[in-house]
Amino acid sequence: MTARPRACPCGSKLAYQDCCQILHKGGIAPGALSLMRSRYSAYALGLADYIMATTHPNNPSYESSERDWRKKILAFSRTTSFVRLEILDVQEGEQRGSVTFIAHLLQGGEDVSFQELSTFEKVDGRWLYLQGAKTSH
Ligand SMILES: [Zn+2]
Repeated sequence: MTARPRACPCGSKLAYQDCCQILHKGGIAPGALSLMRSRYSAYALGLADYIMATTHPNNPSYESSERDWRKKILAFSRTTSFVRLEILDVQEGEQRGSVTFIAHLLQGGEDVSFQELSTFEKVDGRWLYLQGAKTSH
């Protein structure tokens, strides 16, 4: 018996194994959008190491204590339902890219969705999450 492949949490309608898992296993994101989607999926799946590895050292949320940081990410993943990712705008550049999205989230049955403009920068051939600005919707 083969298990039905599970849908990727990023909402691409692809199987996880054909989508974000490739990046979670070390594949190179071709652009800012795929990196962004893979980070959303990583939060949904509690892959703290991936979140940390794809955060730019200049990002305000970057923490030098991996242990505390990992704990925070895992707590967020555990207490949050990742309902849906809605992409509003994408700008792909050679070294910089940005994605505006709405993360539809629930915590304890409460809607904690937010809209964000995320900026990404390519460092040594890999896209990293540089910063995020909450925007209203
Ligand atoms: Zn995906």
